[in-house]
Amino acid sequence: MARYLGSACVLCRREGEKLFLKGDRCYSNKCAIEKRNYPPGPHGQSGSFRRKTSDYSNQLREKQKARRIYGVMERQFRRYFAEASKSSGVTGAALLQLLETRFDNVVYRLGFASSRKQARQLVLHGHFTVNGAKATVPSYVLKPGAQIAVTEISRKSAYFQAVAKELTRRQPLAWLSLDAANLTATVLGLPSRQQIETPLKEQLIVEYYSR
Ligand code: SF4
Repeated sequence: MARYLGSACVLCRREGEKLFLKGDRCYSNKCAIEKRNYPPGPHGQSGSFRRKTSDYSNQLREKQKARRIYGVMERQFRRYFAEASKSSGVTGAALLQLLETRFDNVVYRLGFASSRKQARQLVLHGHFTVNGAKATVPSYVLKPGAQIAVTEISRKSAYFQAVAKELTRRQPLAWLSLDAANLTATVLGLPSRQQIETPLKEQLIVEYYSR
């Protein structure tokens, strides 16, 4: 399945809630959900479009929401679920842990990018190293102890100098440590469910795949 290249705001409107896919714009009054919170399409505004509310549709929507938030394609998402199912912990929490420790998500959570989409671009463009080696795979799952750094060349760019200034005002998440001045970070451990800030009800996703 091809990567979705359409409007991110349409995805939020489809789900009927903010998925925070566009960085700063999501917190402004330009957000499409603030202006037109009705489903996209010709019948969205008229009210003739009805959101289904069966158990199955709720589970499906939750899975789609998770995929959209983390920018993961169907097949890959299914693989994450299979891996989470094999873990000794709670499957839903293990699934969220895998999604959270993706390289692009960590770059976003550290504040190096204002959205996961931008984080993905920064990773693809080779701005980071992991454990001293250049890393350009956004889906790479980071292990505890992984050290992330902005490359020497990128550190001098206007973008990353501005980011460094901004980061000094930010408190990193408990499972990440950040050296804002040097633009380096470490994954201290796997995030617990309580440490993962997300609107997702992961149990519905587990139920979706357990049908
Ligand atoms: Fe969603 Fe952000 Fe667009 Fe608002 S601005 S609809 S939160 S992507």
